[in-house]
Amino acid sequence: MLRTFESLGSLSGKRVVVRCDLNVPLSDGVITDDGRVRASLPTLNALLNQGARVVVISHLGRPKGAPDAQYSLAPVAQRLSELLGSPVTFAADTVGQGAQDAVAGLEDGQIAVLENLRFNPGETSKDGSERRAFAEQLAAFGDAFISDGFGVVHRKQASVYELATLLPSAAGTLISRELDVLERLTEKPERPYSVVLGGSKVSDKLGVIEHLLPRVDSLLIGGGMLFTFLAALGHKVGSSLLESDQIETVRRYLSAAEEKGVEIVLPVDVVVAASFSADAEHVVRDVDSIEDTEFGASGLGLDIGPRTAQAFANRIASSSTVFWNGPMGVFELAPFAAGTKAVAEALTTVDGLSVVGGGDSAAAVRALGFNDDQFGHISTGGGASLEFLEGKSLPGLEVLGWQQ
Ligand code: ADP
Ligand code: MG
Repeated sequence: MLRTFESLGSLSGKRVVVRCDLNVPLSDGVITDDGRVRASLPTLNALLNQGARVVVISHLGRPKGAPDAQYSLAPVAQRLSELLGSPVTFAADTVGQGAQDAVAGLEDGQIAVLENLRFNPGETSKDGSERRAFAEQLAAFGDAFISDGFGVVHRKQASVYELATLLPSAAGTLISRELDVLERLTEKPERPYSVVLGGSKVSDKLGVIEHLLPRVDSLLIGGGMLFTFLAALGHKVGSSLLESDQIETVRRYLSAAEEKGVEIVLPVDVVVAASFSADAEHVVRDVDSIEDTEFGASGLGLDIGPRTAQAFANRIASSSTVFWNGPMGVFELAPFAAGTKAVAEALTTVDGLSVVGGGDSAAAVRALGFNDDQFGHISTGGGASLEFLEGKSLPGLEVLGWQQ
């Protein structure tokens, strides 16, 4: 059983370290999607209302174990203060003098954000004793620990795993809510159940297919990974994203799906571009003639085509349970956003449970003008939700008492 934070008793007057996932997309220091900050509010508000002294820790981006100004959490602390409607102290380091002063200065019902965890090599070290040493420094700031960074629960990192072993610890409301939804996807989902996969991390996402095949009715493939599927069927894919070493695996999935009566729905057309840019020339081609354009073998498939988008939308709209991870195309460039938009639109019409998972997928639906409440749930964790669906053990949840 996952320990919920009510199990810690009253936290009034206590120092509570809260691991949030405030890893938001930034462009020139400006937050382009504050979804993860907003998702952290319920736990933080509950603690502040109880009169706890709240110490927020998080990572941002992938700095290399040392301070790097472009990954500072300062703009995030600022945004958090606006959303909370109250002051937030920002500490310019994570466990140094700045952090110590910030924590010591907290009064009941006040909150501080410490600088990026990943400015310290101990956070992501492969060496458990280094992680533990860093976690001990963090543990010194709290009387209790609340883990609420759902996006990182699949990582065995100091602030996710070791820290939880050093203090009385429990899950925050975001993690509880995320798990409720994911459990509905794995335990008796209402049928028909469709899963839509896209995005760019092809080999990362292939693993989930194996686990999902016996559980779903259809699997719709878009995004960068579709080209590995097309190549497995013998199609030429030009210069599109392709993982040749995964072609055999994909062939196995295709025949396993046929045996199990699961439909793997592949695109019938794609948008082929001359180059990777918003003003690139582009045309729609059937999947068997991707290289048959004026761009030849240098053509890049950057989105699913309109006939595919329509077919995917129909399939999604007639499902009772839908999980979607990974944009259908390079939605960041307007000419290649239509596939992603069509899929998002279809999810909003699902009569049942619709779940969007993944940092870029969540950012995509918001950038395309959708509201969070048009979906059943927008998960803050891409990798974490996929690994959950794969049935993998998630160290950051197990340390909180949870078992699959
Ligand atoms: P998520 O964060 O939702 O899990 P990913 O990180 O796997 O998703 O993938 C998101 C990225 O995939 C986006 O930046 C998008 O531009 C890219 N992408 C989608 N389709 C393609 C494609 N056909 N070629 C190259 N990149 C793609
Ligand atoms: Mg991503």
